[in-house]
Amino acid sequence: MPASPANDPSLRSWIDIRPTDDFPIQNLPFGVMEVPEWGPRLAVAIGGYALDLYACAQLGYFEAIGDDVPALGAAMPKVFRRRSLNAFLRLGRPAWQAVRERVSELLRHDNPSLRDNELAISTCLLRQRDVTLLRPVKPTSYVDFYSSLEHAMNVGVMFRPDNPLLPNWRHLPIAYHGRANSIVVSGTSIKRPQGQYRPAGQDEPVFGPTQQLDFELEMAFIVGQGTAQGNTVPLAQAEDHIFGLVLFNDWSARDIQSWEYQPLGPFLGKNFASSVSPWVVTLDALEPFRVAGPAQAPQPLTYLQNTDNQHFDIQLDVLIQPAGATTEPLVISHSNTRHLYWSMAQQLTHHASNGCPLDAGDIYASGTISGPTPGALGSLLEMTQRGTQPLNLPGGLQLGFLRDGDTVILRGYAEREGVRIGLGEVRGTVLPAAE
Ligand code: CA
Repeated sequence: MPASPANDPSLRSWIDIRPTDDFPIQNLPFGVMEVPEWGPRLAVAIGGYALDLYACAQLGYFEAIGDDVPALGAAMPKVFRRRSLNAFLRLGRPAWQAVRERVSELLRHDNPSLRDNELAISTCLLRQRDVTLLRPVKPTSYVDFYSSLEHAMNVGVMFRPDNPLLPNWRHLPIAYHGRANSIVVSGTSIKRPQGQYRPAGQDEPVFGPTQQLDFELEMAFIVGQGTAQGNTVPLAQAEDHIFGLVLFNDWSARDIQSWEYQPLGPFLGKNFASSVSPWVVTLDALEPFRVAGPAQAPQPLTYLQNTDNQHFDIQLDVLIQPAGATTEPLVISHSNTRHLYWSMAQQLTHHASNGCPLDAGDIYASGTISGPTPGALGSLLEMTQRGTQPLNLPGGLQLGFLRDGDTVILRGYAEREGVRIGLGEVRGTVLPAAE
């Protein structure tokens, strides 16, 4: 992709933004907000604010780009007054780029058109704390990959010590279909699931609240333009179908999962809830953070051969705020998306390789992203060796799996040349199981 003028590291905004802020003018992620009495609106994050795209369009700030991109012109302003990004995503990359670049112009420190119009600012610019951020897309499908070699090895050793990595793993991005309507936005509490599991050392299963509730540190990409049934996507064009990325917590009940998963894969141990961050950071904004992925050996089959920098250098943190703690959340892991063995482009191309249709708004998660060091593990399953070696937290607290009241927070950001492109965060608190 050619460099966007909106990525220029020297750009400054007339909105005050701290250097540690996730949403400087070079980022401009898209989301959906609900404003009391106004209903849902598409928005772009800038610093601690949300720019209302519907209001901008109504005030005429997008007229020129509507002329340049006719599909966008015909869809505005209604396309910005929806409960999800889906309709906007279907307009394709020219529309996404045109809006992001126009918003960048409007927010530049030396552009007076919005900066000096107090009435327009009062209509278009809202503090994020005054709005409700919604789940950004309405996915028709959700797929979870298993693309971290370190995670697959760590888990494989636990469950199959003699045969940790199955023979297909290095030849294709392993995945399963999840449950699209179980995906919730950051801030949604998660009720501890109940289910069937077989306690260690027992012959018979029991039914009850999971005793092994875990998180999984993942990123997910959002499909922008879909594909028709029967069509495939060459690897070189895979990223044309990817709108952007969110943080993803794939809540997992390990005891339910390990009892049910053979021979057909994950089911009720996974599909009670997964959480996403509210702001979708575009691939355009992440363009400066491309890196080569790990060497792939043996070389994949031709349709998956990856020659470009299709991985991204995004630092990831896992934080825990234990139940009842009043202190700041504790960082318990640092990882990075560059550790993933399979790229998003390879995942998408593989998914479409049989003609399976992809839809705008679909969510494809990476799988748990563990790195090569002990401090870079993406789940409590790995950090605690299935709960047998609890984490020692300050205050004498030992954490094996998640307890009721614990809050898990995932954060992510890319940083280069003084520009920090943040993903924001995804957080969720565990609630007790139903009576
Ligand atoms: Ca997962």
